[in-house]
Amino acid sequence: MVDMALKYGDSGLCVSFQEPTLLFEYCLEVFPLAKEKGLFNCFVSNGYQTQEALKMLALAGLDGLKIDMKGDKEVYDKYCRDVDVDKIWKNAQFARKMGLHVEIVNLLITDVNDDEDCIDYIINNQLKYLDKEAPLHFTRYHPSYEFHNPATKIEKLEMAYEKAKKEGVLYPYLGNVLGHEYENTYCPKCKETVIKRYGHSVTKYQLTEDKKCKKCGSEIPIVGAYRG
Ligand SMILES: [Zn+2]
Repeated sequence: MVDMALKYGDSGLCVSFQEPTLLFEYCLEVFPLAKEKGLFNCFVSNGYQTQEALKMLALAGLDGLKIDMKGDKEVYDKYCRDVDVDKIWKNAQFARKMGLHVEIVNLLITDVNDDEDCIDYIINNQLKYLDKEAPLHFTRYHPSYEFHNPATKIEKLEMAYEKAKKEGVLYPYLGNVLGHEYENTYCPKCKETVIKRYGHSVTKYQLTEDKKCKKCGSEIPIVGAYRG
């Protein structure tokens, strides 16, 4: 894994598809090898592991944790069963306190978790357990395989984004809406577009080398290096 990442010029390893905690022992072995070569390590997780496991992963070299929040307690009870949703938020908080980079992603699914109460729940907990600088993504669902609810309305996603921003989340994003202006990073102080994106590509980068807004000089807590 590490050799391949280096060969293809990647900057890190990301463990995803399916829940990476299932590869716990493997990660404990691979992460230190990746760190030795200057690579970062990250997890795309459901956030449902013990804090002891998170600590072991952090010590092994985990740098970032992306947690998929499915919704509020009602959504978890209905679709996931026997999940203690507070445990996920507490893990996000614990990881952030250990110094990991933490981002929350909420896939908004039509008639499952796209009601205003559920969106409010996500935003309130984001601010309660994390802080205003932690990124919060709302991503668009598309019907697939045996689930046929229509694709999430763009207006719902925009409403979630705008609500998050209004409540104080400094870096909300929309995902799976290619070319939308809410894919970009804006300077919270002067509103300048500091990173313009198109899907997974960065099309414009307006930060100084020490990650300050080129227009007003505010520090933007972006992790990693932009390599053009
Ligand atoms: Zn600025």
